[in-house]
Amino acid sequence: MLNKGQSEEELFAFLAQKRQEDLDHDFILSSMCTIPHSVAVRAHCLFMETNLGDPGLFPGSFSLEKLLVQRFGTLFHCKNAGGYATSGGTESNIQALRLAKAQCSGIVAPNVVVPESAHFSFKKACDMLGLEARPVPLGSDFRMDADAAAGLIDKNTICLVGIAGTTEYGMVDPIPALGKIAVQHDLFFHVDAAFGGMVIPFLDRPSPFDFAVGGVTTIAVDPHKMGMSTIPCGCILTRDPDLLNSLNIDTPYLTVKQEYTLAGTRPGAPVAGALAVLDYLGMEGMRAVVAGCMKNTERLIAGMETLGYQRAATPDLNVATFTCAKEAIPAPWRVSWTRKNHLRIVCMPHVHAGRVEAFLRAMQEQKKR
Ligand code: PLP
Repeated sequence: MLNKGQSEEELFAFLAQKRQEDLDHDFILSSMCTIPHSVAVRAHCLFMETNLGDPGLFPGSFSLEKLLVQRFGTLFHCKNAGGYATSGGTESNIQALRLAKAQCSGIVAPNVVVPESAHFSFKKACDMLGLEARPVPLGSDFRMDADAAAGLIDKNTICLVGIAGTTEYGMVDPIPALGKIAVQHDLFFHVDAAFGGMVIPFLDRPSPFDFAVGGVTTIAVDPHKMGMSTIPCGCILTRDPDLLNSLNIDTPYLTVKQEYTLAGTRPGAPVAGALAVLDYLGMEGMRAVVAGCMKNTERLIAGMETLGYQRAATPDLNVATFTCAKEAIPAPWRVSWTRKNHLRIVCMPHVHAGRVEAFLRAMQEQKKR
């Protein structure tokens, strides 16, 4: 640390230079985050110093968190759902497995049945909680095989996980079939809809993935992904409004006497941002955003196939994957690669039609070289 502080001008010249080293969103095709909506940024700034970790001091911010949970509860067909705003999908998934474990205290070697396609946050969660992860193979359509999942469940299974919008291929697992299995085995069933939760409800033909499906216990959804809120903002929802209380611990020196959240200090600003986007756009606005992303995904797939790069999957959501060599990607475009080595592009709102066309042109040019 410097002995004498810098001038503000000097400091901000340095910060601005560092910010310029970050990539421009114009070329980012690999991210599940996007440029936040302007109303999210405005709301975020208004709530900058609020801390949801001590809700008695910030009752206004706390009521916005409750409203956000209510909005998602209604959207996911369970008006009275419980929940709270997390830092994102990782925290929501950790909390879901903590909740599942808290319901089964007598099991010595607990296991969790998760699809092979699960996000790596489940590895972290299992590691932290001492759980064995039992990976379920995917079918040829990149969706989790429900029969194979049923075959892996035993008396030590504490949770079944399904993904509504896989990170790598944008697929929705067969949630109704998995829900039936969960009910048959009286199992905790967590749906990771961190990505898909803000896409599926706004599609023309939404696949069933939420509390309307019998057996779904908890859902993770991330406003900081397709919800266009500021980072960090996730949300965990519980069908039973009181379920989270099973994680309560005493918090003697706060304005509340107990808390069930994972983080202590929690920002109110991105929660205000998330609610602002939902209320500003409404169902109609979100449908338009999602329709645009899906149209761009279809155009990208068609354009890439014309160039000779075949799709790896026909996605349920706005994630396009291809068979393609790494050298085929021109600079400065940033794409990503799946564990099966497929090129992966997420058509987030900032990847608009003009960017898709620009990328296709760049791919064509690169081919000629
Ligand atoms: N779950 C899914 C399906 C995801 O796609 C991701 C991230 O892309 C996560 C969980 C983790 O979310 P976060 O990075 O916000 O913790």
